[in-house]
Amino acid sequence: MAALNAPLGIFGGTFTPIHNGHLRLALELRERLALSAVHLIPSSRPPHRDSPQVSPQRRFDWVRLAIGTEDGLIADDRELRRQGPSYTYDTLASLRQEHPDRPFVLLLGDDVANQFHAWHRWREITDLAHLVFVERPFEPPAPAPELVAHLRGRRAHEASELHARPHGLWMSAHIPPLSISSTRIRRLLKAGRSVRGLVPEAVISSFTPEDISLLSHDEDPAND
Ligand code: ATP
Repeated sequence: MAALNAPLGIFGGTFTPIHNGHLRLALELRERLALSAVHLIPSSRPPHRDSPQVSPQRRFDWVRLAIGTEDGLIADDRELRRQGPSYTYDTLASLRQEHPDRPFVLLLGDDVANQFHAWHRWREITDLAHLVFVERPFEPPAPAPELVAHLRGRRAHEASELHARPHGLWMSAHIPPLSISSTRIRRLLKAGRSVRGLVPEAVISSFTPEDISLLSHDEDPAND
């Protein structure tokens, strides 16, 4: 059982659609880092890629279905309730108002480490949260030198360090890799192939012909 002031995990993504790689990441890290909960937060208007054709509300519905009754995972729609680009800084700032003292842990795939320095107010994100980079099943691009310089001397090696202060550290986490991406799922759907075992059953059961058509026509992200 997580302690009273155990950190809150924050996991954002476009989730077009959410898949088992996302779920395993949230569950593994909730357990390993003894997080009180993990908020899964679909990006309404991702600032650094085209907005998915699938609506934010539909992508949020899938997050809720994927979580089901799992304890400690929370489908959080705060980015759907804001106008303008969905900046992670703003999301963390709004969570901080609700939890003034709680450590925050921002969960990121390590493929994000070469783009993070382009995020809105990225340096200030470390004034709100710790960063945990999770290994993806492919070789990540090298982290940007700006990020490396900013994080120098702030590495945590134990989860307990993330519990001891509210923000400002970073950590790398290895979880058993699942070679799943939303891009791959969209490609399979486009080819009329099965996505069983990659996407939670409740999400697959909810797919309408329109969902499948929109997913099939969503572009691959430019940087994929
Ligand atoms: P796309 O293929 O459309 O880029 P994605 O599968 O990478 O999608 P996103 O919604 O863009 O999913 O990702 C949200 C976060 O989840 C990112 O930090 C990404 O690195 C991470 N992530 C996605 N899939 C996995 C996986 N299989 N294992 C670990 N992390 C993952």
